[in-house]
Amino acid sequence: MARKIVAGNWKMNLNLAEGAALVKAANDYLNANPVKHIDVIVAPPAHQLVQTVKLATNTKLSTVAQNMAAHENGAYTGEISASMLVDAGVELVIVGHSERREIFGEDDALLEQKLHKALEHGLYPIFCVGETLEQRKAGEHFKHIENQLQAGLSKFAADQLPQIIIAYEPIWAIGTGETASNEQAQEMHAFIRKHLATISNAAVADEVSILYGGSVKPANARGLFGQPDIDGGLIGGASIQIDSFLELIKIGEDILR
Ligand code: PEP
Repeated sequence: MARKIVAGNWKMNLNLAEGAALVKAANDYLNANPVKHIDVIVAPPAHQLVQTVKLATNTKLSTVAQNMAAHENGAYTGEISASMLVDAGVELVIVGHSERREIFGEDDALLEQKLHKALEHGLYPIFCVGETLEQRKAGEHFKHIENQLQAGLSKFAADQLPQIIIAYEPIWAIGTGETASNEQAQEMHAFIRKHLATISNAAVADEVSILYGGSVKPANARGLFGQPDIDGGLIGGASIQIDSFLELIKIGEDILR
């Protein structure tokens, strides 16, 4: 069975004090309301990784980096390597968020290298895929997602795939307040799982966590998390407000199975 996950992506938001307050609030909540069914993870900006890891030690919270280099260490100014993330105590890393693809020009080939590098170093990648509004309107969304999955994952062995978490994040729903409907999200998650089965097999595909991302908030999370192929959420805006993040943890624990 796939891991169920509620993940917060802080993007380039929150200073050290604000980040610490959010992590402490999540820790206090999880101590008072232990979760059995979900993992809770947060992705702070790079300058807070060490602080977050420290605050999350011996708690139910894990730390995920928002990005990493495809290279080993060396002359790559401004980058952070997989071994550095491991050194900092980070357990997971987001790879291929649409903002990295669209704003920073990260392409399929680079992302495939990053995925392999992450696994080489024992990091769990959260591999993001998603279509634009134009692609959806043109009916090209399934083909586009299939191409992204194929480019990133086709060279992994079946026993490696469950270490990779997929996040389906339609670009038109990220930070826009517009969410995929429960049906649209479920339809694409089922398609992704089916495609993973062609790369490996159905049993392996069932073990891969597929998260939905795109304007998830307490008001729509119950419907989305209740879909059979949705294993949780990668949440931006609603994860940096303490109240809504705690509410999303509660909903995740109630609904995700
Ligand atoms: C994200 O950061 O991956 C995301 C889905 O953002 P938001 O929830 O704000 O749409």
